[in-house]
Amino acid sequence: MTSTVFSPTGIRFENIDKRYGGLYALRRVSLEISAGECVVFAGRNGSGKTTLLRIAARLARPSSGVVSFLNGGEDRGGMLPPAGFVAHATMVYDELTAEENLLLFARLQGIAEPAARAETLLREVGLAERRNSLVRTFSRGMRQRVAIARALLNEPAVVLLDEPTTGLDTEGASWFAQTLRQLRDSGRTILMSLHGESEVSTLATRALRLDAGAVVADTLTGANFRSILAFANA
Ligand code: ADP
Repeated sequence: MTSTVFSPTGIRFENIDKRYGGLYALRRVSLEISAGECVVFAGRNGSGKTTLLRIAARLARPSSGVVSFLNGGEDRGGMLPPAGFVAHATMVYDELTAEENLLLFARLQGIAEPAARAETLLREVGLAERRNSLVRTFSRGMRQRVAIARALLNEPAVVLLDEPTTGLDTEGASWFAQTLRQLRDSGRTILMSLHGESEVSTLATRALRLDAGAVVADTLTGANFRSILAFANA
């Protein structure tokens, strides 16, 4: 995870609206995230966190507004971003082994030497011993390791994590915090949704609060980090 194959990449959200019928999941979100930031999004259920992450992952399109990826100061506009997304429901196949999952996604993504890449990632996420076990036999924490390995297959500069600590036991949460620290220290840009304060939230360099689809607080413009995270539980 210390590889520097990727180029540091920031993200700019300009005036993003996302509407579902009459409902605004996001409303006029304008936000610039610099390369290497580790940003937490907090807010009540339904405040728009997942939608924002899905738009950054290009899994959803904004109804209006523009998302750009900023690579070394250069605006790469509409080019496909090197973003890895770890959804709340881990997007891995139950009836495949850990290794088969990584090989499948590596091939789908056209990654060179898929077997070697899968091998490296299985080791990095601590699943080398369980490579041949079916994912359906895995705990939530182990499934999440597969999902993180999957998201890192193509050396993404941007990593998006939707509620990565939900459902993890103490050991899983502590493994995740260590992994997040490595990702952050490798220079990747990280955006994640999170509930409350934890070992993981202490790794963030910035926190924002969403409310009804709008950004209502940002530590970059002076909001208090702890109150942003605490509010999410209110
Ligand atoms: P959060 O992640 O903060 O809980 P979401 O981004 O999941 O919030 O949801 C924001 C709002 O958008 C919610 O009101 C949710 O019901 C709505 N929403 C999200 N996805 C869809 C969808 N595919 N269709 C209709 N409404 C949606």
